[in-house]
Amino acid sequence: MAEKKPSGKKKKKTSQKYKMYTVSGSTLTRKNKQCPKCGAGVFMAAHKDRMTCGKCGYTEFVRKEK
Ligand SMILES: [Zn+2]
Repeated sequence: MAEKKPSGKKKKKTSQKYKMYTVSGSTLTRKNKQCPKCGAGVFMAAHKDRMTCGKCGYTEFVRKEK
């Protein structure tokens, strides 16, 4: 049975672009901030210009650094 592929335009998920960790030299740094409301262990989802907590909905806007 062949599955029908959706012909409509689908937007790709961009969340995979963001890595949870950044390795600089021998130091492992957590790229994603932890939610100040939920505490340690709850990471915030990184968006283009903001970070949001999926648990409580806390949003923090990110400044663009040059
Ligand atoms: Zn939270």
